[in-house]
Amino acid sequence: MDTKSAKYYMDREDQFGAHNYHPLPVVLERGEGVYVWDVEGNKYFDFLAAYSAVNQGHCHPKIVEALVQQSQKLALTSRAYYNNVLGEWEEYATKLFGYDKMLPMNSGAEADETALKLTRKWAYKVKGIAKNKAKIVVCNGNFHGRTITIVSMSSDPDAYSDYGPFTPGFINIPYNDIEALETALKEPDVAGFLVEPIQAEAGVYLPEDGYLKKAADLCKKHNVLFIADEVQTGLGRTGKMLACDHENVRPDILVLGKALSGGMYPVSCVLADDEIMLTIKPGEHGSTFGGNPIAAKVAVTALEVLQEEKLAENATVMGELFRSEMKAVKSDFIALVRGKGLLNAIVIKPTNGKTAWDVCLAMKANGILAKPTHEHIIRFTPPLTINEAQMREAIDRIKKTFAEL
Ligand code: PLP
Repeated sequence: MDTKSAKYYMDREDQFGAHNYHPLPVVLERGEGVYVWDVEGNKYFDFLAAYSAVNQGHCHPKIVEALVQQSQKLALTSRAYYNNVLGEWEEYATKLFGYDKMLPMNSGAEADETALKLTRKWAYKVKGIAKNKAKIVVCNGNFHGRTITIVSMSSDPDAYSDYGPFTPGFINIPYNDIEALETALKEPDVAGFLVEPIQAEAGVYLPEDGYLKKAADLCKKHNVLFIADEVQTGLGRTGKMLACDHENVRPDILVLGKALSGGMYPVSCVLADDEIMLTIKPGEHGSTFGGNPIAAKVAVTALEVLQEEKLAENATVMGELFRSEMKAVKSDFIALVRGKGLLNAIVIKPTNGKTAWDVCLAMKANGILAKPTHEHIIRFTPPLTINEAQMREAIDRIKKTFAEL
């Protein structure tokens, strides 16, 4: 256990760090599986799991081992040279997800940027759209990261305010609105439709059943690329390897990140077939760290763990348990419980004088860490390794919190 107080660490971050986050007042020093411990020795269930990066649980021993082994051998070559593990990851991922090629990056935002660049290249090189005219359709409420181009697509003032001038070339439509998509696709020069299968950051908004399939079919009809951002919904989180699998949709471009490393290391990638991927030629896109040997080993291992431990299947069962128990809670504070697999949210009634932040503070006191997304929504996304006994204990603590409120 640490000898310094939590306050010491929080004050130091406040003094020397930028104030671009508003963390819960807890200072963590250790994690294992579904649990984390703070510097005062308190143990918590982690019901955020680093925004779904830690699907495989904190410090998964097999992933730690892969990281340690590879880091002692060769960490970074840059793509100026070949290395002997990148191809292993590329082969593994393309066979697992069924694509011709993979392009490795580091963060989710970089992978989304890569998908946007690929879409534009394809628009000019394959579809034949006139130079600089390509448009990409995106959804209101989207969250794809924090770059200037990505916030140019955002409808959230917190994300885009005072960051203009913005990147042009996007058409915003309402999420979960097939007619709006159909109208947008009729515009000239549309190259792609970028969508989250469930809008997680926005507050876990699930589209109607059939939306993704209809959207993908419409894209095909109009010769427009269907681009799925599965950075948060992918890799077992919603009860399937990909959230698109629920509707048997195969995106033209698939974007992955977060749990691709089990939270061990920043690893992301984009998958697509040759017609799209080979439009980018040597020197036209890249990243110093993308595809490094540690990332490659960690990613292969993290994907193996998801399958070996049947984490998607567990997410289905544990998610159903969570939602059925939470829906049965009689509380003036709960407006709605929604989600899929272990991507769930509770909407807090704004009328009771308490915000989602207050509820999160109260849950923390009862050993549950979760974070609000927007004012009245709390996301519940534990590691997918959570077992039934752990889930029941966590549910009891959440129920106790609502009773105390
Ligand atoms: N796309 C989605 C759907 C996300 O949820 C996120 C992060 O929350 C990102 C992209 C951005 O990922 P990163 O923070 O690794 O850049």
